[in-house]
Amino acid sequence: MSRQDIFQDALQRVREIGADAGVAPEVIAELMHPKAMLTATLPVRMDDGSTRYFVGYRCRYNTVLGPTKGGVRYHPQVTQAEVQALALWMTIKCAVVGLPYGGAKGGVNVQPKELSPLELERLSRAYVRAMADFIGPNIDIPAPDVYTNARIMGWMMDEYEAIHRVRAPGVITGKPIALGGSLGREEATGRGAYLVTMELIRRQGLDPKQLRVAVQGLGNAGYHVARLLQLEGMRIVALSDSRGGIHAEQGFDVDSIWKEKQSSRRVRAVYCAQSVCELVEHQQISNQELLGLDVDILIPAALEGVITPDNVDQVRAPYIIEVANGPILSDAESVLLERGTVIVPDVLANAGGVTVSYFEWVQNRSGYAWTLDEVRERLAEVMTRAFGEVWQVAADEERSLRSAAYARAFRRIGDAVGAHGTREYFQEGRQQD
Ligand code: NAD
Repeated sequence: MSRQDIFQDALQRVREIGADAGVAPEVIAELMHPKAMLTATLPVRMDDGSTRYFVGYRCRYNTVLGPTKGGVRYHPQVTQAEVQALALWMTIKCAVVGLPYGGAKGGVNVQPKELSPLELERLSRAYVRAMADFIGPNIDIPAPDVYTNARIMGWMMDEYEAIHRVRAPGVITGKPIALGGSLGREEATGRGAYLVTMELIRRQGLDPKQLRVAVQGLGNAGYHVARLLQLEGMRIVALSDSRGGIHAEQGFDVDSIWKEKQSSRRVRAVYCAQSVCELVEHQQISNQELLGLDVDILIPAALEGVITPDNVDQVRAPYIIEVANGPILSDAESVLLERGTVIVPDVLANAGGVTVSYFEWVQNRSGYAWTLDEVRERLAEVMTRAFGEVWQVAADEERSLRSAAYARAFRRIGDAVGAHGTREYFQEGRQQD
């Protein structure tokens, strides 16, 4: 599937689940169209004095529940369609966990690994200059996503404040702590995914110590979920990044591999005792092979559209936790569901990130910083409650977890749409006159 089609695939899912869940057509219609989309050319002075032109996008998808919220991605495959699909999923995600936000997403079509740190800073500032009137603490609040991080968020906030001549830490989340970021934001997506995985395990009566896990994409989200699951006694038997992966049945020490990745930029099978790292026995595998491993839990934590009708027959894991956004295409999902695979959908599994982003925004607006324990406690409360609600809808209405999560979100959005008055309400009013 091309990146163009990913948005159509996302819309199709909304239509199908909406119809099946008996959601009012007005609510589905509301979700069929992004509210606003900005595409801009970003001229950036390179270190050699030349100027390169990049394309940047920002989509504010829906504002029914509040200002829009969503990450900014730097990746060579970013397209308008991808940004719109991600913004739609953000809209659903915020409603699933009950945040007062609509969804948004942004991106720049760029290979960030080819830029120097100074070029990356100029690009990030150029992005905010182009978007300065499109974002804002009460309008649209960006955050990190693939290949963007806290430092980039700091540059972006700084540029926004310089343009508007105000202090506005609430314009962006995922900032460095020193610039108003929240404790616990960096680990939040992985921790949220860990919390829902533990809920799933508990409800399925599984023993964590017997479970083998494969994680595709050892980035911010993938690292933290793998680390926390290892602490529960699970064996992390495979890990990968964009260049490929490693596999060992005895399991890896996630922290050692992460440490090595920070210094060498590669996923290498090492075990580190203090500062000494040694290679451990393993096989090199491709990202395709990782998806087909015989494991209990598969965690795609890189990019969307990795499990497709072409490779779905190779997937063997009975449980999939979608830490990446949109890793399973809808045609592939129906095959998995028929087979009895339990999928914890992205809109629930990776919602920990936006939840702590919301906490950061609340802290910025009140000028009062929370402790790490407070952040973790409140995150656990939100994720556990959301998982419980989705699980209940799935059980009561015999739905998959994704269908239940979407139905829950559509009903929340529907309540807000209905509060303004629906067609039914206005027609009744006319009859009474
Ligand atoms: P990141 O940039 O920190 O890490 C991405 C990782 O994926 C890197 O290790 C990269 O090498 C790897 N990767 C890239 N292309 C790959 C490929 N083709 N095959 C295998 N690995 C590949 O990004 P992140 O923030 O961890 O985001 C990962 C996923 O989680 C994305 O889908 C993102 O939208 C989603 N997500 C992130 C957050 C967040 O707060 N960071 C929140 C919600 C969802």
